[in-house]
Amino acid sequence: MITTYHRPQTLDEALTLLSQPNTVPLGGGTHLSKPTPDPVSVVDLQRLGLNYIRPKGNTIEIGATVTLQQLLESEHCPPALKTAIKLEAPLNLRNSATVAGTLVTCDGRSTFATSLLALDAKLSVFSLQLPITNYQPSTLNAGDFLPLRPRGLITQIVIPLNVKFAFEYVARTPSDKPIVCAALTQWNSGRTRLALGGWGKSPSLAMDGTEAEGLETAARNACHEAADDMASAEYRMDAAATLAKRCLEDIS
Ligand SMILES: Cc1cc2nc3c(=O)[nH]c(=O)nc-3n(C[C@H](O)[C@H](O)[C@H](O)COP(=O)(O)OP(=O)(O)OC[C@H]3O[C@@H](n4cnc5c(N)ncnc54)[C@H](O)[C@@H]3O)c2cc1C
Repeated sequence: MITTYHRPQTLDEALTLLSQPNTVPLGGGTHLSKPTPDPVSVVDLQRLGLNYIRPKGNTIEIGATVTLQQLLESEHCPPALKTAIKLEAPLNLRNSATVAGTLVTCDGRSTFATSLLALDAKLSVFSLQLPITNYQPSTLNAGDFLPLRPRGLITQIVIPLNVKFAFEYVARTPSDKPIVCAALTQWNSGRTRLALGGWGKSPSLAMDGTEAEGLETAARNACHEAADDMASAEYRMDAAATLAKRCLEDIS
């Protein structure tokens, strides 16, 4: 239950407030507004100017409070990432939920997090380990952030622009969360990175190689322990290999 609400005007002010116990960042509030027994103070980030989407060199910088819908509607958003964002949440939620809040709360079925893992997204994160002594952000790869979700304030997410990116999924219905999804990024150098989602607490990195050789085998190998009440591991191994192959065809 939210018992105290702050709306700082500057990042320094926000970090000072967040250094207090039981105080957390507030993005779109779609998760934080759910009833809980414990009191929590929130620091609303909406006045910090973090709602930008801007190309910089070969990357796109996405401010932490950009909503999923803003990113989906952006001319800079790769088409396959738009497909993944549409599956992440329905329109009403996408209009409120922020990119950072989504990464903090997501599970392994998150199509957005799976895509950011494949894109090797970089997060700017201010550590909130108390006491706060360092007012400089660290850069964390999505692959390091997602399994641990360290306490921190995310201010920006950076994704590469000069890449080929594909996303494929299988689900019970076209708009349902995936049973298996695959996101594939290929750089001009040939570097090929495959992430899989659809089960567990976080998406899985199946491959990050210098070329696409062995992609389907890597997809299968990443699903050995992917059994749950939605599907068996064997089903996911087959589906992941097929989706990985389709992703590769999409970008060829
Ligand atoms: C009806 C409904 C259905 C939902 N269904 C799903 C679902 O199927 N799957 C799913 O995963 N989620 C679901 N959610 C949860 C929610 O929509 C998502 O988790 C959402 O993307 C959270 O984003 P937000 O910006 O609203 O986060 P908030 O609610 O503002 O915050 C969520 C968490 O992220 C932290 N946070 C926010 N911004 C930052 C930041 N910049 N830096 C560091 N930490 C930050 C907060 O402190 C909090 O711990 C649902 C919510 C609702 C209301």
